Amino acid sequence: MQPESPTMSSDKKYGYTTTILHSDRQKPIEHGSLHKPIHTSVAYGYADARQLASVFQGREPGYRYGRQGNPTVSALEDKITSMEDGAQTICFATGMAAIGALVQALLREGDHVVSSSFLFGNTNSLWQTVNVQGPRVTMVDATDVANVEAALTPQTRMVFVETIANPRTQVADLARIGELCRQRGILYVVDNTMTSPYLFRPKVVGAGLVVNALTKSIAGHGIALGGALTDTGMYDWSRYPNIADNYRRYPTAQWGMAQVRAKALRDFGATLGPEAAHHIAVGAETMALRIERECANALALAQMLDADERVQAVHYPGLPSHPQHAISASLFRRAGGLFSFELKDGIDCFDYLNRLKLAIPASNLGDTRTLVIPVAHTIFYEMGAARRAEMGIAESLIRVSVGIEDTEDLIEDFKRALDA
Ligand SMILES: *Cc1c(COP(=O)(O)O)cnc(C)c1O
Repeated sequence: MQPESPTMSSDKKYGYTTTILHSDRQKPIEHGSLHKPIHTSVAYGYADARQLASVFQGREPGYRYGRQGNPTVSALEDKITSMEDGAQTICFATGMAAIGALVQALLREGDHVVSSSFLFGNTNSLWQTVNVQGPRVTMVDATDVANVEAALTPQTRMVFVETIANPRTQVADLARIGELCRQRGILYVVDNTMTSPYLFRPKVVGAGLVVNALTKSIAGHGIALGGALTDTGMYDWSRYPNIADNYRRYPTAQWGMAQVRAKALRDFGATLGPEAAHHIAVGAETMALRIERECANALALAQMLDADERVQAVHYPGLPSHPQHAISASLFRRAGGLFSFELKDGIDCFDYLNRLKLAIPASNLGDTRTLVIPVAHTIFYEMGAARRAEMGIAESLIRVSVGIEDTEDLIEDFKRALDA
């Protein structure tokens, strides 16, 4: 019996998909398995009790208890690290848990965060929660670095932005914000979910930490939730004041993630389960192929709708009319698989959605199936009309998360629903 699979030599740089497909084999896999197996054990036994103590004290590697780490999840963490060309990744039960970990592990009362006004709805809601609990969050139009700079205070510890905002697709001034953070020694966190590490690596604009909701494009199938926080190695943690003495024992490069693993993952417990990690790892193998198709479909649909006089507006960074089209084209491999559009007055958005046969009214994105949602009435309902107006969200706005269906079928579906 083969004790472990042959490992792959790691000195050569392979292409994106090759690297993901063979990433588990960077380390030996039990019994020659080609997939890292699903390890369900919560506890890990040691023949020598001294070794158990040494693992607990961080003096040698090993698993302690399933809440803090698991071999199946570790293999996924390594995969995300190589996708982002980063230094280290920690996975969480959901994307929101990964964002919550920033608050739990890295912020204290009196600290300040600058974030974007154009954000995933639940992150927007999280910042409202944080604002009444201690740290203060200021949300600014992050499509212009000047607004971010004007909001900085001596207490600003972190700048948090998304790449392409969901659902209106504003693109943050990513490179210039990165330069500002570097000059000021501020931790720059980029939520890369909308672009995915295939279209964009935030490390290139100086992000210190990258958030990915694994639930979306990385898994792609919509059957598992997960989130990840990747340390790109770009931030000098010796400049971060909130690192407890316990974690300053490690080399400086590891301070941030050591504190996140203990203070957020261990103490708050939003751990990714091994079954979900396995589903996500399998989905990730086809990520580049899916995203290429989704982006091609999104561009074709956006162009078709943009040319139709019954459509009021189409928001997609791939269209030359988009305000950040140039930034998007210079930073991202393609413009993404998500766009939103508004119908002309007199066409009811619910009636339109009900006429679609392929696109499904549902709340997810990065799924292989095309999903549509009337934003103001669902995911952005709770925040109310005033905040929606601030975020540029029309009451008739429809968000489309484009899937991998055949292009002609999608075009036909969206066109026929207009004609009806
Ligand atoms: C979906 C999403 C999240 C949250 O991910 P979950 O896994 O659903 O918790 C965070 N940020 C962005 C940009 C998202 O689209």
